[in-house]
Amino acid sequence: MGGLQQFIASIPKTEIHLHIEMCVSSASYEALMDKYDIPHDEKSSALTDFSKIVSLQSMIESFFFVQSFFREPVDFQLVVDDVVAYAQRNNIYYIEAFASPSMVLNRGLIGFDEMFDTLVAGFERAQKKSGVDVRIIVDVSRSFGLKNAQKNLELTQAYLKRTGTDRIIGIGLGGQEIGNPCSDYEPVFAKARKAGLHVVAHAGEEVGPESVWEAIDLLKAERIGHGISSIQDDALMERLKAEQTALEICPTSNIITKQYVSKLADHPIRAFFDRGLNVTVNTDDPILFSIELNKEYENVASSIGFSRDELMVLVSNSLMSTFLSDDAKQAHWSRVQKTVGKV
Ligand SMILES: [Zn+2]
Repeated sequence: MGGLQQFIASIPKTEIHLHIEMCVSSASYEALMDKYDIPHDEKSSALTDFSKIVSLQSMIESFFFVQSFFREPVDFQLVVDDVVAYAQRNNIYYIEAFASPSMVLNRGLIGFDEMFDTLVAGFERAQKKSGVDVRIIVDVSRSFGLKNAQKNLELTQAYLKRTGTDRIIGIGLGGQEIGNPCSDYEPVFAKARKAGLHVVAHAGEEVGPESVWEAIDLLKAERIGHGISSIQDDALMERLKAEQTALEICPTSNIITKQYVSKLADHPIRAFFDRGLNVTVNTDDPILFSIELNKEYENVASSIGFSRDELMVLVSNSLMSTFLSDDAKQAHWSRVQKTVGKV
């Protein structure tokens, strides 16, 4: 068997915590800046110099700025193309990814249906062509208040009713966690669950364990985005272990936003894993953090000491924590095991 990089590259993977807008290549956003005459000035270079990101707040500012480049529905085709190219580079066959309509709708240039028509049709075509299957989780967002989140859910439900698509599988809660507790969004999540949508939430990324408790107890989130502050609360760790709630860990993202951990070697993913929690590896925002999924796995191996067998557990955890059917999961896993190390 070859080196670590080759081994990781050979593993067909899934990813369950990825924001599609932050998967856009610099070539694409520069093309959009040119298309709309967005000046390449001090402000734009500050917000697109992602190496300057030091906190979740600065990350979100850059996120919103890059999102403001999308002004016609067709622009979202660039997102589709870049997400699929990213998947192919990293041997990813299945992604459950967030799409965030709030900022787009607030600008008033593109409607919800136009945005999602482009994404849904684009990902349908891409799957036929490339085999990469991307399912969408609508980020109702905690950055714009409850009413906005309710509106996003209503639009999602109306869209699903109109189109009957199975490309959109649920809702998620992203955005600024400080000052926007999960508890505020309980009615949105209750309604989404009742409608049969999957529900996930970012929690414990920049707020303590109380945020994760709220996400599981009040929102009944099926997976937790990040959840790294759970390390501070033994009872919470036991609960997450008992229920095998998936933690969507994004190591590089956590190091860059620096809320709870500033170097990989100190990342709680090791402690979570050793304790028997269901941890998965993800990139969150590849373009913001200049990270690829293969590299995240390499880091987890080289800086946090995960063995090849343990990496395979992480890969399996990710697949088994998707919202695919049990039959599909088993079929994929048999194929993955046959493929690993043979590419
Ligand atoms: Zn995220």
